[in-house]
Amino acid sequence: MVSVLKALEDAVGSEYVSDKDFITYAYARGIDSALPANPPEYVVKPGSTEEVAAVMRIANQYKIPVVPRGGGCCLTGGSKPIEKGGILLDTTRMHKVLNIDLNTLTVTVEAGITWAELNNKLNELGYYTGNLGPGSGMSAVVGGGLSHHSVGGGGGAKYGTCTEHVVALEVVLPTGHIINTGANASVYTKEPFCRFGFGPDLTGLFLGDNGLLGIKTKATLEIFPKPPYHAAKTFTIEEPSAENAAKIWLAWRRRGDLGIYDSQWWPLIMVLGLQLLLDVPPIKPWVGLQKAVFWYTMEAETEEQLEANMKIVDQICKENGCTELGPELKDGNIAKWHYEEQGHWLNWHSLWGGMGPGSIPLTTEHHQAIHRVPYISKKLDEWEAAHRAELDANGGMQTGISTAILCGHTTVEVDSGLLGWDKPEYRKKNLELWKSQIEMLLREGAMPYMVGEMFSKGLIDTEAFNGTYYAFLRDVKKALDPNRILSPGKFYL
Ligand SMILES: Cc1cc2nc3c(=O)[nH]c(=O)nc-3n(C[C@H](O)[C@H](O)[C@H](O)COP(=O)(O)OP(=O)(O)OC[C@H]3O[C@@H](n4cnc5c(N)ncnc54)[C@H](O)[C@@H]3O)c2cc1C
Repeated sequence: MVSVLKALEDAVGSEYVSDKDFITYAYARGIDSALPANPPEYVVKPGSTEEVAAVMRIANQYKIPVVPRGGGCCLTGGSKPIEKGGILLDTTRMHKVLNIDLNTLTVTVEAGITWAELNNKLNELGYYTGNLGPGSGMSAVVGGGLSHHSVGGGGGAKYGTCTEHVVALEVVLPTGHIINTGANASVYTKEPFCRFGFGPDLTGLFLGDNGLLGIKTKATLEIFPKPPYHAAKTFTIEEPSAENAAKIWLAWRRRGDLGIYDSQWWPLIMVLGLQLLLDVPPIKPWVGLQKAVFWYTMEAETEEQLEANMKIVDQICKENGCTELGPELKDGNIAKWHYEEQGHWLNWHSLWGGMGPGSIPLTTEHHQAIHRVPYISKKLDEWEAAHRAELDANGGMQTGISTAILCGHTTVEVDSGLLGWDKPEYRKKNLELWKSQIEMLLREGAMPYMVGEMFSKGLIDTEAFNGTYYAFLRDVKKALDPNRILSPGKFYL
């Protein structure tokens, strides 16, 4: 429509709007290449909050849907149109660090900055964001991570999800109105220093919303000094390794804060698979290894504290089937790579790159309580056994858990899913099998955080929410977005 294009050009500048096929098709898919390509009608790249608000007002005027996008790394179809057409709003032009405040110990950024760029800047001052965002943090941005409750880019065991340390947000509502939350909600508060106050936690309403309720344009996050001491150890772990890993994590948590920064369990199938990926430095010595791997990184303020905590942590590992690999990268110490060489951000990119051309991840990653990890591992095995013939007939798909990541005090992120092949003849079955595993996991109480299209619809299809909860969500959505402009289709809303 000529008038829409013209209005968008007037709002953000003609060089930042396009309706050309070669641009719109570039936004028709995310990393989720199992889903059908759905090109938007327009792509816009606003440069400021006011421009985002102007786009939303135009969208309401012409009743055109808008999907916000950061790095586009959502693996479940969240950052592309679910329904055909509409406006794809790319936030990555808004990527400035606005203020690093060492008096309030916060950083304020535009939402389109990547986690890596932000943490590189903080690192120069000896600080970090605690949780470093998702494992995709070299391309994923702060707005995307906060919309997913991301974890995995480092620091998840110590700091929880990246949403736990948000102090304030600036949000453009679906109607185009702009609000500030946290300390910034009052005109009398001079600086964003605290999220909780002034009544209900409206910051929380927009965290993990998967782009459903508003467009985050700025965020203020707590920052932490990076402790001077750290340790990084990698072990082989005896079978049943899921059970042993869960026992270790629970035993650590029952001892209180031991300074664990990250910890992951990599099942045997993953260890065997990774032996082929020789571009991940610490993996070479694993060649021939027939055991699952478990690792941790730990931080401390003093050498004494580090030694004391390590003694407790290592003893618990030993009692639960762990044998330490050597301390260096050349010994296979992947924990060291993660902490000292940004392995937390390189890991997943290497992994998927290594699977070969045409492979597609059909993730079913989700949160579980620590003690449930062995149970859910067993359920995934049962699901695989029941579907093995279909998986084989569909190109020989692999399925299972790749990693489990300790996340916050109570939770483990279970990275389960399927590995499929991007061929026309497999597409229908890829989707069917993906949906089937998602629904099994939801019925087993899984808590997805990157809900995108697949999980948000799965939650409704499986009737996971009771009627009152879903009605409440619908009412909130309707109150904020009366014209159903923002991200239509998620949760079938
Ligand atoms: C190699 C790789 C590794 C990954 N590792 C992890 C991991 O360790 N942990 C993890 O949690 N995830 C991981 N992911 C998934 C994903 O990258 C992350 O969840 C990431 O946080 C998404 O950020 P993004 O900027 O790419 O967001 P996008 O994919 O662009 O968007 C994500 C969702 O948020 C919405 N959105 C984006 N920006 C805004 C905004 N400003 N306001 C409101 N809504 C918005 C979108 O509509 C979409 O629904 C990985 C993905 C890849 C490809």
